[in-house]
Amino acid sequence: MCGIIGVVQKRGDVAPFLHQALKRLEYRGYDSVGVTTIADGRLHIKKEKGKIEEVHRKLNLDEMPGSMGIGHTRWATHGIPSMLNSHPHFDCSGKIAVVHNGVIDNFMELRAELREKGHKLQSETDTEVIPHLIEDFMRDGMDLVHAVRETTKRIQGTYAIVAMSTNAEENYLVCTRDGNPLVIGRKKDVSYVSSDIPAFLPMTNDMILLLDGEIASLSADGIKIEKISDESEVHRDSIRISWTADQAQKSGYPHFMLKEIHEQPDAIRNTLRLRSEVIREAAEIINSSERIFMLAMGTSGHAARAGRHMFSSIAGILPVFELASDFSDTVYGALSDKDCIIAITQSGETTDTISAVKYAKEHGAKIIAITNVVGSSITRLADHTILTQAGPEIGVAATKTFMVQLTSLALLALSVGELTGFADSRVIKTKREFLEKLPDIISDTISRNEEPARRLAGQIYDKPSLLFLGRGVSMATAEEGALKLKEIAYNHAEAYSAGESKHGPIALVQNDYPVIFVVPNDETRSRMIGNIMEMKARGALVISVISKDDKELESLSNHIFTIPWDIEPEFSTMAFIIPLQLFSYYMALRKGYDPDKPRNLAKSVTVL
Ligand code: GLU
Repeated sequence: MCGIIGVVQKRGDVAPFLHQALKRLEYRGYDSVGVTTIADGRLHIKKEKGKIEEVHRKLNLDEMPGSMGIGHTRWATHGIPSMLNSHPHFDCSGKIAVVHNGVIDNFMELRAELREKGHKLQSETDTEVIPHLIEDFMRDGMDLVHAVRETTKRIQGTYAIVAMSTNAEENYLVCTRDGNPLVIGRKKDVSYVSSDIPAFLPMTNDMILLLDGEIASLSADGIKIEKISDESEVHRDSIRISWTADQAQKSGYPHFMLKEIHEQPDAIRNTLRLRSEVIREAAEIINSSERIFMLAMGTSGHAARAGRHMFSSIAGILPVFELASDFSDTVYGALSDKDCIIAITQSGETTDTISAVKYAKEHGAKIIAITNVVGSSITRLADHTILTQAGPEIGVAATKTFMVQLTSLALLALSVGELTGFADSRVIKTKREFLEKLPDIISDTISRNEEPARRLAGQIYDKPSLLFLGRGVSMATAEEGALKLKEIAYNHAEAYSAGESKHGPIALVQNDYPVIFVVPNDETRSRMIGNIMEMKARGALVISVISKDDKELESLSNHIFTIPWDIEPEFSTMAFIIPLQLFSYYMALRKGYDPDKPRNLAKSVTVL
């Protein structure tokens, strides 16, 4: 969480760029924003609690002098969102400025130690120890690079840091990381460093990764990367990013979330074009493993849950799904090199998932990663990576990255199915042909359901609590539908297996209590009708997501969303989630919330 940006250029003021770059990073946190530049040998500082545009209206972030600066948009972990806790943070002399993403675990003892030495700390954050430690090392005669290097030896935890100082003779930024992302961008006479690629995407498509344990100094003339451990220089080629700057803009849509819902057909199309060997290689690892675990969090976890059904029905294997955060507390080390992990994280930086993967690796398991971000941390841990092709996703609530995770799991299940021979080759062919049609199916599903979603939101936006029920693979759809609604419209929404709903949750239901049923035309349908009848008998407001022409279900429901094509049963989540994404979006709008920036959340969860 937290977005950090640094830029140093030969001439001209960097403030307008920093402001725009922070806007492109705002999905990472929006508790506060801060910018510091260096001009005339001193720091110029603007920082305040609130979202970027609110702060800009108050402080005018574009008007700051200096050709070098750093900026930060915060997702608070230590200390409330406030002006004083906003980054950048400074040393006592007001000459060193630091932005940080992550958590410093030993901040309490460091704060006590620094106070003892006479340092004055202004904030409640863990971050603030960093500039003060740097200050001490610089006072001992070190330059900024060495002072930051020594500081990393004192701090424990996870961090991505960018620091600058007015003491240096020339303008340069120093950055380092351990556990949190940093990417570097370079073009003539300018260097950039940021938490994520979209921040400098309008300026350059070439990016250089900084890895854990490395430190980089950036000037307008170039960059130098060294290993912290032995100061040896690292030469790393840049990677070309195919994302366009336009993809990271709203392109006429009122919100990123709506734009990204509409981008799903293209995202599927691009993911279907993945080279077949990439999928095949992952399938071979799965096929030669004894046990398969799927690890993920949040929406990626729902993709994993749907993926299990694909593997089971097409390939005859049933992976175990575990929340990555709970994995080590569940397996107690009972892993071996015969086990395989499928780890799913859109950002590739989700700390819960990365920690679980490291744990599994230490115990010998093989790792297959499914992620949307090239060069992200998970890709470096994995034995094999499937890179989904959603392009940048800015809306905090995941939509198109969910869709491409499902698409790649579908491709993978089909490929494993070919190896295990569980499904007939004709069946596999039919399912492959279906995937080819999926972009059109999703397009039609979006157009058909947008207006009904808006209308239903207008009617039930004030209902405080909703149930989402499904069976089989539709449980994953129900869970993702409920999560979307919680995330952006703040309704209490709970997903339950329809079978389980009679064992407790039905007690909640009384007149007009909304219950959303996910009912594809698969083998769960007749039992789902039974559950609808039970809920109707208690006065529930029945909202059903059903297949086209299902007159029977239509007659049992108060509201319906329909899927205009026949769907292969194990892939139904891809189509049936669409109305629920749209419904959450319009619920958030109707309630006056910004669906792109839900409270308390950030897109890339880089804390445990
Ligand atoms: N721990 C720092 C703070 O609370 C940075 C938070 C983060 O990166 O999410 O300010």
